[in-house]
Amino acid sequence: MKTGADPFSKEKRADVMRAVKGKNTKPELKVRAMLRELGYARRYRIGGAGLPGKPDIVFSSARKAIFVHGCFWHGHECARGARTPKANAAYWIGKIARNRARDAAAVTALGAMTWSALTIWECELRDEATPSKKLSAFLSGSA
Ligand SMILES: [Zn+2]
Repeated sequence: MKTGADPFSKEKRADVMRAVKGKNTKPELKVRAMLRELGYARRYRIGGAGLPGKPDIVFSSARKAIFVHGCFWHGHECARGARTPKANAAYWIGKIARNRARDAAAVTALGAMTWSALTIWECELRDEATPSKKLSAFLSGSA
């Protein structure tokens, strides 16, 4: 096994770097476009500083937080989330397990603060209708 080999293609790396910076990833932009269509433009702030887990999208007065999670980084139980790069597998498995634990702790902590949280997964965004319905139900309070 080569250590230090880059498990990502160049293209993928650009996505990863954006994900690391944690702002304006493609899935986040998609969710924000859906919110705009649902009539929630400008009613939220992004980057959730000061809240557990730094939710990507925050509706402060409604105490609702939305996480937009990449399936790989956050260990979603889907085909994409189940993939592990062959290089440095132990490193990735540990890292993703820590991300999952941190995500679960953030949702629990938000709940303790009487906030509700919704997670939208990257793989759900392949289809528009389902995540849009999920967002709408969550924000209208019926979720
Ligand atoms: Zn997924």
